[in-house]
Amino acid sequence: MESYNSFKVAQSQVLEAAKLLNLDSATCDLLMWPQREFTFTIPVKMDNGSVKIFHAYRIQYNYARGPAKGGIRFHPEETIDTIRALASWMVWKTAVADIPLGGGKGGVRCDPKKMSERELENVSRAYIRGVAQHIGIDKDIPAPDVYTNPQIMVWMMDEYETIVNNHNPGVLTDKPLQVGGTEGRRDATARGGVTTVREACKLLKIEPKTFAIQGFGNAGQRAALLHEEILGGGKLIAASDSRAAIYNPKGFDPKELVTHKLKTGSVKDFPGSEIISHDELLTLNVDVLYPAALENSLTADNADKIKAKIVCELANGPTTPEADIILYQKGIHVIPDILASAGGVTVSYFEMVQDKYSYFWEEELIHERLDKKLTKAYHTVQDAIKEKKVHPRLAAMVVGVARVAEVCKLRGWV
Ligand code: NAD
Repeated sequence: MESYNSFKVAQSQVLEAAKLLNLDSATCDLLMWPQREFTFTIPVKMDNGSVKIFHAYRIQYNYARGPAKGGIRFHPEETIDTIRALASWMVWKTAVADIPLGGGKGGVRCDPKKMSERELENVSRAYIRGVAQHIGIDKDIPAPDVYTNPQIMVWMMDEYETIVNNHNPGVLTDKPLQVGGTEGRRDATARGGVTTVREACKLLKIEPKTFAIQGFGNAGQRAALLHEEILGGGKLIAASDSRAAIYNPKGFDPKELVTHKLKTGSVKDFPGSEIISHDELLTLNVDVLYPAALENSLTADNADKIKAKIVCELANGPTTPEADIILYQKGIHVIPDILASAGGVTVSYFEMVQDKYSYFWEEELIHERLDKKLTKAYHTVQDAIKEKKVHPRLAAMVVGVARVAEVCKLRGWV
């Protein structure tokens, strides 16, 4: 995961946008580094009676436009630099979506696949004990991310409420409905992404007949299921997870593939599918490719072979800077992560708002408000592409960085 340093990539993206905006060096320095970082160790009692020490992180990258917001990942290869990069992207993402939040991220270096449910709960509660004094609905609001889920959020919320000794559901988002969660969160990231694909198809005047998904997890599965509703169809011809990539030119039934994945833990052995390599999936001739796994999947080594008309980045940081240039020169319409995957944090923001006034909205209202936000963000980024004559990621960064820099200046920080 870290052979390519994601934080260096994130910093170079900020620098490039700052140069285009002619930002002064103090503003540039401020935006290239996290405002606050917490690194801590958490001792956890394991089922066999031993105590294991895990390394944990929470980064509040920038909170000029509002409290820091971003997920917590449980991953065996987690590093401070991965978290810094992801926290940085959250700042530009919330700014592009134009919601009043900053950006943050957290993580624990652990392998959840090798842990029992009780051990996972112990890690989750210990994590919150480590950061409780630094988080809160007006400071920093974590959420789930790779290998964390709504159950983990409830354990964390419960631990936090025990520490602060009051009811405080808005401290974390993406909770189940019964404990202050919101309607529409489960598919929000994918819904936002597919909404931007809809706008791209209108702009490019194409019909999205085929699509492929790299990373058939939460975001990937939901994107597959939403194609029919938002785009009126399109065949899912390939999907992958960490274990396998599968292909069928006639298309898979997304619902059946989701059921198979939930039942067996993988897309592997889905009836009627042929196994292909992970790289083959990325280079298939499809209308839309959704990278929805981890960072650095589209690189200088494979970008030249990408044939998709639209690349909708549901994953965070799936494309390296070299690949960005190659895809741009090839005329591929990339919808960059900080725009394409902003639906999740947008609905998390709706959840915080509802938690704050303890009154909950109907699902249709959430969908409608999400659609409005993402459609507007998509066209703002398209305008920046035209105005600055730069590739889509840089244009989205210019939009996000300009909004954050403006508030840093107004506050008198720089
Ligand atoms: P997830 O853990 O549910 O799914 C990730 C999937 O990717 C898993 O099925 C995993 O097996 C697969 N995968 C891992 N390595 C792979 C590889 N090398 N090749 C192919 N597949 C691989 O996570 P998720 O919540 O769906 O998140 C996916 C991506 O989207 C992450 O980058 C995450 O940061 C980003 N994202 C998610 C949300 C959200 O709301 N879920 C919001 C914004 C961004």
